[in-house]
Amino acid sequence: MAYDTNNIFAKILRGEIPNQTVYEDDHVLAFRDIHPKAKVHVLVIPKGAYESYEDFSAKASDAEIVAFTRAIAKVSKLAGIGVTGYRAIANTGADGMQEVPHFHIHLLGGQRIGGMITLPE
Ligand code: 5GP
Repeated sequence: MAYDTNNIFAKILRGEIPNQTVYEDDHVLAFRDIHPKAKVHVLVIPKGAYESYEDFSAKASDAEIVAFTRAIAKVSKLAGIGVTGYRAIANTGADGMQEVPHFHIHLLGGQRIGGMITLPE
């Protein structure tokens, strides 16, 4: 499946939609989720056009992968959840129920996040 250049995060990266930026570098942008599911809810995305974690893991350059991984700790610190902890979630593909087809990791914290997941019947 080809990367959809009209997905909402592509528009954010192009500056067509505003965002509450937490962190930015050459390869990464992190911003507040528009519908936060916890007191702190930040999305971390690569600037490259990767539709999912699967796609990013397979195709991103070493520099992009290193920058993205290093950004997680920078973002958690800036968001005030580096010490208290957080849950990092990467919804991936159909079964992962990914809604926006641009790779992103959710960082959820600022409170106890609760048990892992409850699967539907
Ligand atoms: P997914 O289900 O794909 O893992 O999560 C997509 C996330 O993107 C959701 O948590 C949703 O609230 C967030 N989101 C969708 N549209 C926007 C937007 O325009 N701005 C921001 N900041 N977040 C968005």
